[in-house]
Amino acid sequence: MKIYDVSSTIFSGMAVYKNKEEKQPVYNTVQSGYVTETRIDMDAHTGTHVDAPLHMVPGGDTIETLPLESLVRECKVIDMTHVDGAITKEHLTDKDIQSEDFVLFKTKNSMTEEFDFDFVYVGKCAAEYLAEKGITGVGVDALGIERSQEGHPTHKTLFEKKIIIIEGLRLKEVQEGRYFMMAAPLKMTGTDASPARIILLDNFGQ
Ligand SMILES: [Zn+2]
Repeated sequence: MKIYDVSSTIFSGMAVYKNKEEKQPVYNTVQSGYVTETRIDMDAHTGTHVDAPLHMVPGGDTIETLPLESLVRECKVIDMTHVDGAITKEHLTDKDIQSEDFVLFKTKNSMTEEFDFDFVYVGKCAAEYLAEKGITGVGVDALGIERSQEGHPTHKTLFEKKIIIIEGLRLKEVQEGRYFMMAAPLKMTGTDASPARIILLDNFGQ
């Protein structure tokens, strides 16, 4: 069994959405004798994280309501490294995507640690296709699941169907296939997202 850590490293100077300085995590470390204590000030959407519906839906569900059964389970990594710009419905129709699947899209985004303003994203028509299929969740290797789409239709289409969204995955070392996923957002309450350590296991059950 191999363990793939598909989480990004959190540090001051890491890739953040649109390189906005105010989104950088800020570490404040205090030392007193032999005691070291660090306070970290950061976005709930820092690095690899899970979004909750509240992020785009006023009054929507918050992070602690997402069932662990939907986050610790089998998933399918789907290779989309040939795609530029938007992943569309046409890119998905010949893929093995079934009801209640949790799919993770590996794209060119995983090949760089820098924020790319032209990052590959999930287009509206692809989100509608995934919603029709009745998947449980979708993960991407960009810090946003969409860009340049007025009104955020990808987020809204998925959240309306209670489809879980993971952003900021690092999938460079992972090949297309089935894995056992352990995605564990912090047990915070009332928030629209949480950073998460996410690992994939291959050859699970053997
Ligand atoms: Zn997010």
